[in-house]
Amino acid sequence: MPTIDYLRISLIDRCNFQCTYCMPEGIDLQYVQQQDWLTRGELRRLLTEIFMPLGFSRFRLTGGEPLLRSDVVDIVRDIAHLPNTQDLAITTNAFLLSNLAQDLWDAGLRRINISLDSLDPAVFQQIVGGRGRSRWPEVWAGIQAAHRVGFSPLKLNVVVIPGVNDHEVLDLAALTLDRRWHVRFIEFMPIGNDDLFKDRGWVDSETLRQRIRQRWGLTEGQVQGNGPADVFQIPGALGTVGFISQMSECFCDRCNRMRLSADGWLRPCLLNETGQIDLKTPLRQGKSLADLRVQVAELLGAKPDINYKMRESGVTGAYSRTMSQIGG
Ligand code: SAM
Ligand code: SF4
Repeated sequence: MPTIDYLRISLIDRCNFQCTYCMPEGIDLQYVQQQDWLTRGELRRLLTEIFMPLGFSRFRLTGGEPLLRSDVVDIVRDIAHLPNTQDLAITTNAFLLSNLAQDLWDAGLRRINISLDSLDPAVFQQIVGGRGRSRWPEVWAGIQAAHRVGFSPLKLNVVVIPGVNDHEVLDLAALTLDRRWHVRFIEFMPIGNDDLFKDRGWVDSETLRQRIRQRWGLTEGQVQGNGPADVFQIPGALGTVGFISQMSECFCDRCNRMRLSADGWLRPCLLNETGQIDLKTPLRQGKSLADLRVQVAELLGAKPDINYKMRESGVTGAYSRTMSQIGG
């Protein structure tokens, strides 16, 4: 049974991109009101009075797009300097990163994951949506800034969609040859994107591994992280290639994480809301955090069973909430 000590914290459910696989056009997203976002002070209290006493020590900030929070640097500084924090990372689309990378580093952030689904600005624009010129140059500049500042490991997340970006898998893997970057291919999941999923389907990790293996060969690799990626290395490459295979190889029984939504709901699972707890309302009502801690401990106790049930059912259904709402 894995130790559950890893919390993914969604800072915001809004985004400056509208990726076709995450926030498909036409989807009716009910955004959380800004006054309902957990504030910096509330987050700090929840971490120090509930999560850390229960053994949580590893945290990831996500969203929506976490860099849209104007206080993201302060939140990073707070969490990075809590005595029980062993690991802090962020997942971002990097559009705003070039101006923030140094500040985030100075605040104590060391690990970063960036979504980069294509090296072709036109394909990229088709995926992330929006009119006008492609936003790829800003994202690439953000990645370069993160590299210059020294974030390590620097991971690039690629959601592979057949007929959209699967022809770029070798080019993306080639980024690891002469850079200490870690490119991770994520199997496309049916979360809030029914039409695209039915239309395109998904590619399994083994198919991608075969393509990379045929081109260069592949050996086992290693990289620091808390997630379920299977890590490999092209012989002689500086970086690694990883595969996140939640569709083809359900890893729910190994799941070590809980999720906190932007409006303060604690969820035991990405896809299963069983037992979820509203932490914000009691916190704002001045209720006892010790009592709340007991409820969180009970949910932690129930998680192995939830993991087991998810493993039995697999990631088969189509889910109506999007990743941006749940906090991917
Ligand atoms: N906006 C940030 C970003 O894109 O990196 C953080 C939030 S995003 C929801 C977190 C991760 O979820 C990204 O790596 C994204 O590619 C992934 N994601 C979103 N929708 C997905 C889907 N349907 N299947 C697989 N991964 C998905
Ligand atoms: Fe925004 Fe990230 Fe979702 Fe793309 S994957 S729409 S960048 S939250």
